Amino acid sequence: MLIAHKIALDPNNAQASYLTHACGVARFAYNWALAEWKRQYEAWKADNSLPKPSQAALRRQLNAIKREQFPWMLEVTKCAPQMAIIQLGEAFKNFFAGRARYPQFRKKGVHDRFTLTNDQFDIDGRRIRIPNLGWVRMREPLRFAGKIMSATISRVADRWFVSIAVDTEDPPKRKAENQGAVGVDLGVSALATLSTGEIITGPKPHKALLDRLRRLSRSLSRKQKGSRNRQKAKAKLARLHARIANIRSDALHKLTTDLTRRFHTIGIEDLNVRGMVRNRHLARSIADMGFHEFRRQLEYKAERRGGRVVVADRWFPSSKTCSACGSVQEAMPLSVRQWICPDCGACHDRDLNAARNLATYAASSAVSACGEAGSGSGRKARVKPASMKQEVSFGPV
Ligand SMILES: [Zn+2]
Repeated sequence: MLIAHKIALDPNNAQASYLTHACGVARFAYNWALAEWKRQYEAWKADNSLPKPSQAALRRQLNAIKREQFPWMLEVTKCAPQMAIIQLGEAFKNFFAGRARYPQFRKKGVHDRFTLTNDQFDIDGRRIRIPNLGWVRMREPLRFAGKIMSATISRVADRWFVSIAVDTEDPPKRKAENQGAVGVDLGVSALATLSTGEIITGPKPHKALLDRLRRLSRSLSRKQKGSRNRQKAKAKLARLHARIANIRSDALHKLTTDLTRRFHTIGIEDLNVRGMVRNRHLARSIADMGFHEFRRQLEYKAERRGGRVVVADRWFPSSKTCSACGSVQEAMPLSVRQWICPDCGACHDRDLNAARNLATYAASSAVSACGEAGSGSGRKARVKPASMKQEVSFGPV
């Protein structure tokens, strides 16, 4: 399976400016190709005999003109512009498949990055060799063995990283401790509520850092544009943002690792509503990274243990259903945190009840996926089987 290892780099000043330059070339090529794509698409709409835009054609087109029009592109690895256009092709593919928004222009200083194909770099212990640049020190050696596929070099605040993608044949991890199912309700006040009754609160280091963030942003807005002090304040702010993002990312990884280590079948709700810019009903750790990232981590981590992730679609009435008797209520406004079922009298905590319904749903979907029971629920589950054949048994949910 494909695994990426992200390692901090220690470039010297000359190397850092090369990396900045390469990121700039990648960004320029991406934006150039996106503008061309739009133009060629409009032209094709007006006249269907013209070719539709494609990343392969755009790469050829750029190659033909870059020596004349953009000679500064030749100062860095040819991978920087080429891979950027391939990534644009991927972005369009995801857009057409309904998985992502329409591709946007890349902005300077936002996710600065460029990618190298595996024939364009070498790894030797704690260093990586990059074309036209030479060896750059890495903080640690590559952790995974296998075929090296690509490397993406990126900047976060003032630090550089390389993310090396490796196709590993790691031995599968041990099976989850509990071969039954768990339901997970993602929330605001708590990071997650499990059907077992556990509440994962998530990180709370924020208060002090968030106060500092507010202070720094205010101080930045007071500094004069273009001044040296403004630049310094901006760098400080970027470092603090990166630190907070790290804490949140760490919490998300811990949650997904813990869930897959403990439970075979994990039921979650699809919160990936297209067109919804920001889901306000999620803890910052998940809102920051996006539901897609939460699901991605769960799926690949479950796969390594032969587990599975069951995603209930967004019409699944996880909050409105009584987990005790199964009756479905008309409405359940978000403000209702506790309720008593009018049909059976059970007293419910909103989040725990939702988690329990997801657990039941995941357990029944797992059975029907194995062909042991019909699709009795009448609701279609998108089940992603992690391995072809497996024994399913249910522990307590
Ligand atoms: Zn009930």
